[in-house]
Amino acid sequence: MEPILVVGSVALDTVETPFGRVKNVLGGSATYFSVSASFFVPVRVVAVVGNDFPQKYINQIGKRNIDLRGLMRQKGKTFRWGGRYDYNLNEAHTVFTQLNVFESFVPEIPMDYIDTPYVFLANIDPDLQLDVLGKLKSPRLVACDTMNYWIDSKKQQIKNVLKKVDILLINEAETRQLAEEFNLVKAARRIISWGPKAIIIKRGEHGCIYFGRDSMFAAPSYPLEKVFDPTGAGDSFAGGFAGYLAMKGKLNDNNIRQAIIFGSVMGSFCVERFSLNQLMNITTDEIVKRYCEIKNLTHFGNIRQL
Ligand code: AMP
Repeated sequence: MEPILVVGSVALDTVETPFGRVKNVLGGSATYFSVSASFFVPVRVVAVVGNDFPQKYINQIGKRNIDLRGLMRQKGKTFRWGGRYDYNLNEAHTVFTQLNVFESFVPEIPMDYIDTPYVFLANIDPDLQLDVLGKLKSPRLVACDTMNYWIDSKKQQIKNVLKKVDILLINEAETRQLAEEFNLVKAARRIISWGPKAIIIKRGEHGCIYFGRDSMFAAPSYPLEKVFDPTGAGDSFAGGFAGYLAMKGKLNDNNIRQAIIFGSVMGSFCVERFSLNQLMNITTDEIVKRYCEIKNLTHFGNIRQL
């Protein structure tokens, strides 16, 4: 099966939700993406951690179908993110962002990563996304993510990334911020005019909308009774989406729709416990079961006339 490469953050997160608080736990956009995508295809990671990063986390990730040769360990502290959620769990409030080793990171790509066919540029400095993309040999599909932190400080660099990607995955508020347009349909069209062929707007518990150049698709999120911590839901969605597409190989409309539902399924598992505690413990049978439940949830018959 053909692999997928991800560049993004591997982090120590401190997160507070109405249901509890955790400090310096395993997180990061590349981490959530990799674990999620590893249920579908082999994953290759390009990222950096500091010398304070616990070996037990590396062992946990390394047990999966995830190649960590591109994960560098550098002198200094690991990237740290602090986040807080109120009862509106759709909105993350960043308490702090400490780039630490990411500030001076120059990615080194192992030789046999260079022709990886599928690439995900997870949320990280857009200069790093560009750097990694420039070192790869004509990938078949490139998808990317970003967030308000980078839209505030490096919007032009994000636009440069977008010229080179096929699909942007981004949340609702950040879509409006990036496009400087409140209406989501207009915002999606504007962003597509900058380069990508498609955009997926993630709307937390309200699901997501896909806009292609001449197609649209909307999917609900899985209705959960217990949402504990939304951190990583977007990256887990991306892992399910891109992982399934890479597994199928063909980028047709049917596969894209199914991939979106797998994205939704993986996001739903992620939010059930803190950090990667739920994602690391699910089975492929549970993934398929949830996929079928979403299918039933949204299925309605054809009609010819009233
Ligand atoms: P998500 O909730 O899917 O948007 O992603 C949450 C993850 O993104 C957390 O585990 C953080 O460590 C990571 N993160 C937060 N801010 C940044 C940032 N500015 N750059 C890269 N990763 C970040």
